[in-house]
Amino acid sequence: MKVCAIIPAGGIGKRMGGKSPKQFMLLGGIPVLVHTLRIFERASTVDRVVLVAPEGDIAATAELAAAHGCKKVAKIVPGGRERQDSVLNGLAAVGDACDIVAIHDAVRPFINEALVDTAVSGAAGLGAVCVGMPVKDTIKQLGPDDRAAATLNRKSLWIAQTPQVFKREILEEAYRRAYADGYYGTDDASLVERIGVPVAMIRGGYGNIKITTPEDLEYGEYLLQKGREAMRTGTGYDSHRLVEGRKLILGGVEIPFERGLAGHSDADALIHAVIDALLGAMGQGDIGKHFPDTNPVYKGISSLKLLDQIKALLAEMRFSILNIDAGIILERPKLAPFTDSMRENIARSLDIPAALVNIKAKTNEGMGFVGRGEGVAVFATATIVAHK
Ligand code: MG
Repeated sequence: MKVCAIIPAGGIGKRMGGKSPKQFMLLGGIPVLVHTLRIFERASTVDRVVLVAPEGDIAATAELAAAHGCKKVAKIVPGGRERQDSVLNGLAAVGDACDIVAIHDAVRPFINEALVDTAVSGAAGLGAVCVGMPVKDTIKQLGPDDRAAATLNRKSLWIAQTPQVFKREILEEAYRRAYADGYYGTDDASLVERIGVPVAMIRGGYGNIKITTPEDLEYGEYLLQKGREAMRTGTGYDSHRLVEGRKLILGGVEIPFERGLAGHSDADALIHAVIDALLGAMGQGDIGKHFPDTNPVYKGISSLKLLDQIKALLAEMRFSILNIDAGIILERPKLAPFTDSMRENIARSLDIPAALVNIKAKTNEGMGFVGRGEGVAVFATATIVAHK
């Protein structure tokens, strides 16, 4: 069974009042779209993702997905005039090999992979599944004079959310008939309902909000905080000897100097200290346990590559980084011109905003091994949070 997710990310966020499309709005420092894509990356039932974006945003969207390691994004197609037209374009791109299609709004980042997997399994058996929630408020139907003409029976009313998941043939038939009849619905399930296929409703959550206004974004920040468990902190320390005939690499930046750091890998003491701080916060031992210097694979390797693996471990354990702070102690050369590049390298490798990384550089006032120019010492701390 092949499952494809279509994520319409078409809205230009007019209601947000800003210039950037609303899925590029930041939630906890990360674009809303990335939060959503990460859930589909983790959902084991989903094989590939087709994103639908405005023509002019396709390149930026592709860059964003790649920069955040969203490997399931197989295609990005241009959106249409209405949301329904965008989903139609997505549907044309899923391919014949796909059996099940899950449609999910890019701006609903508060689902989880278990809900996606449940909806997908449901659709595989039942044909059509829509995530939603019972209505909590009493609903009035207004007459032409704007007065309440009827009070609907709340017991039978649900709000429709996404994901909405369908067997591909059912969805394609529903779309074909909707366009033949000139019908536009406000969700995909309504197109399926009108061809007589029953849509099973399953519970999403009241927190499964659609972020379309600045108020939604504020509430979203609150939900993000609420979904976080205890904070954890780790510390790291590393030192390497300065020798002739080696490059001086710190934070992935090659610094012009007559000597460099000795070591098995590229001897990037800054990255090593940061890795130890992160492993410490995760409760996962130390760098030597994960990347033993007896392993020839790590000989001469760029330590930024090791950081990539730490990023994967963080994601697997459902941790995210709140901040990293490091201090490099080196007598010579001056590091100040290079610290911005170092923090950008570290942030890029860990897929976090550069604002969450801080690098300080100082000397040891001529004292000790650092003061005598024999080597470098680096301290780092990392704070992370676990997600429920
Ligand atoms: Mg080291």
